[in-house]
Parts: sequence; C-alpha cells; structure tokens
Amino acid sequence: MPPVIDDAKCVQCGDCVDVCPVDVYYGSKEGETPVVSYGEDCFFCSSCILECQTDAILLRYPLYAQPSYLTDEQIK
Ligand code: SF4
Ligand code: SF4
Repeated sequence: MPPVIDDAKCVQCGDCVDVCPVDVYYGSKEGETPVVSYGEDCFFCSSCILECQTDAILLRYPLYAQPSYLTDEQIK
C-alpha cells in the first residue's frame, strides 16, 4: 500500500518530500500537505516515516519489508 498522509496531523514541513529517494511525493507544493504522486514507486525504505515529526504518514508494509527498528505506532 502506498503512503497515505493524515492531513490532520501533517504540519506541511516538506521533510518527507525532501527525503524520499524516488520522488513519491513529486509535485508537492511548499507549505501544503504533500501529494502522493507515485505511490507505486515506494520501496518501503522508511525514510519519510522516520523524518516525519508528527507521525502523519501511514505506510502499510508488506511482510517482507517490515522494519524491526520502527515502533508499533509507526508501522500501524
Ligand atoms: S518509504 Fe521511502 S520510498 Fe516510500 S515514500 Fe517513504 S521515503 Fe519514499
Ligand atoms: S514530514 Fe510529516 S508533517 Fe512534514 S510534510 Fe511530510 S507528512 Fe507532513
């Protein structure tokens, strides 16, 4: 499942946009909640999850990609 951003939690900092190595959030505008343009390109690296200060990104990991260093709250 591609990442989903909780608009109520997002503070529009843009950190997830900057950190994603494959531009999943391509086309996002500064000061706005990012858009998920290329969700199918997400390879579950967790960078955006770790960068987000407000836990606003929901990412459902496939079993093979579940990282052991994330908390249950971050994995959801
Ligand atoms: S998990 Fe990695 S590849 Fe997927 S959207 Fe976040 S930063 Fe991009
Ligand atoms: S890092 Fe989190 S708070 Fe910042 S823009 Fe992305 S989803 Fe929103």
